[in-house]
Order: sequence, then structure tokens, then C-alpha cells
Amino acid sequence: INIKKAQLYKTVFKPEELSETPYKEVAFVGRSNVGKSSLLNSIVKNYKLAKVSSSPGKTRSVNFYFVNDKFFIVDLPGYGFAKISKTEQERWRSLIEGYLKNRDKLKGVFLLVDSKVGPTDKDRMMKDWLVYYGIPFAVVATKIDKLKKQSEKATVEKRIREGLDLPKQFPIIKFSAKTNEGRVEVLKQIERFLE
Ligand code: GDP
Repeated sequence: INIKKAQLYKTVFKPEELSETPYKEVAFVGRSNVGKSSLLNSIVKNYKLAKVSSSPGKTRSVNFYFVNDKFFIVDLPGYGFAKISKTEQERWRSLIEGYLKNRDKLKGVFLLVDSKVGPTDKDRMMKDWLVYYGIPFAVVATKIDKLKKQSEKATVEKRIREGLDLPKQFPIIKFSAKTNEGRVEVLKQIERFLE
């Protein structure tokens, strides 16, 4: 896939505003600060989509980007930011679950995991939701440039696979917004989801 055009279509703060469109969707999710904005900006290259956050946990909305006048990239709000209140957490949960359930046009989700941090409880919960709702997903290990040694890269794959209880052959895309490693793999996976 070649991304030629991308524009913000809408920003949603409430589950009841999540009306469906006739277009297919692929979504991105992960803990705050995982590198989601950087990944989105990297895959669409010239189009500055998401703001790279200086204060994590700030984005609490679902952002829909219309790509190539054909499909949506859906940027789901990040989770796991320690300082948010119970009410905020509840709001986040109802927004994400409201989106994931009964979303016919959602063809696949990218679950982002920080290579340095490894999989967290919230990542596991997210994976369980995806399995529960029967949504195809791919896992991306972000900020892979932070791991210098090849052995560390191999370990991170194992750590994520075991931590998220993924099958042996389940692909984990190693990605860096700094070096653009894995960018092509992410684009290929988008294509597969949209088939
Ligand atoms: P978001 O909160 O998930 O949208 O994360 P951001 O994209 O805003 O990135 C969070 C922080 O991680 C920022 O300081 C980024 O510069 C940094 N970051 C993001 N991606 C990478 C990467 O691939 N490599 C490195 N070394 N840092 C990254």
C-alpha cells in the first residue's frame, strides 16, 4: 500500500458518537507513550497526523484519519497512564469497548508494545478483548532502535510472545520511528487487513 493522502476526518470523545461509515478501518492502540503518534506519522510520511505528545495520556479521543479516500486509520486513546482518576479510566474503557464491539468495518488492530518496557497487564487485557471480540490483530514492538544488540531484539520478541500468550508463529513487527525499520511491514499488514 502506498499512502498518498491522509486527513483527519473526525475526533470522537463519546461512545455514542462512534457511528459507522461505509469504509473499512484499521486501528492502532497501546499504552500512552508507546510511540503510537510517531508510528502513525512515520507510515503516512509527509502528512503530520498525530501530535507527538510531550505529556503522555493527553489524548483521550478516538481519531479517524481518512486515507487515500479509501479507508480509515483509527487512532485509539492510549492507556495505562498511572495518574488518571477512576472516572477517567472508566471513560476510557467505555470508549474503547464501545468502539471494539459490533464494529463491522474494523478489519484489524495493531497492538503496540514498547520494546524496552515489554508487555503490561493492560496490554494483556487489550489482547484478551481483541480475541473476545474476534478482531484480527498484529503486534508491533515499538522503539526497537533502543535495543542495540541482535540478541536483545530476539529476547524482546520472546518476552512479548510469552507475556501476551501468543502462538509460536504469531508475527511481531519490530518497528522504529527513528530508523523506519518495520515501516514496510506495517504497511503490508494494513494491506492484508483491508483485503
Ligand atoms: P504516544 O503517546 O504513544 O503517541 O507516543 P509518542 O509517539 O508521542 O512517543 C512518545 C515518546 O517516545 C516521544 O518522546 C518519542 O520521541 C519517543 N519515541 C517514539 N517512537 C520512538 C522510536 O521509534 N524510537 C525512539 N528511540 N523513541 C521513540
